[in-house]
Amino acid sequence: MKSKSSNNWVISVSPYLYPVIKDHGHLYLNFERVRIETFISVMQCSTCGSLGHTRNHCSNTKACIRCSSTDDHDRTSCNPRCINWITQNARFRSGFPENHGCRDKNCPVLIQFIKRTIDRTDYGR
Ligand SMILES: [Zn+2]
Ligand SMILES: [Zn+2]
Ligand SMILES: [Zn+2]
Repeated sequence: MKSKSSNNWVISVSPYLYPVIKDHGHLYLNFERVRIETFISVMQCSTCGSLGHTRNHCSNTKACIRCSSTDDHDRTSCNPRCINWITQNARFRSGFPENHGCRDKNCPVLIQFIKRTIDRTDYGR
């Protein structure tokens, strides 16, 4: 990475996403020569685990953060199942795996969501 003054980036995300951004740093390579001030806010609901809204705007029942089930069950021993996998595969016919919790930092849906958030941002190129 060159350190010209024209390469200023400001990226603001939830602290727990930093490892994801770091691991996927190549996402930003396209923008290397462009001055960017970007605020990427990736929202994840702490009530239902869905991406794209916060619990203040959630009308869903509080779901298990491991298996996304709203049933009464032992939430420490259930099988991980990502709620975002369900919506994502239904909408985009993608083949994401479901066998991780919806707070998993390596959730492919989460990573895809971050990518799309970046792609949607207009950098004025
Ligand atoms: Zn929600
Ligand atoms: Zn569960
Ligand atoms: Zn997931």
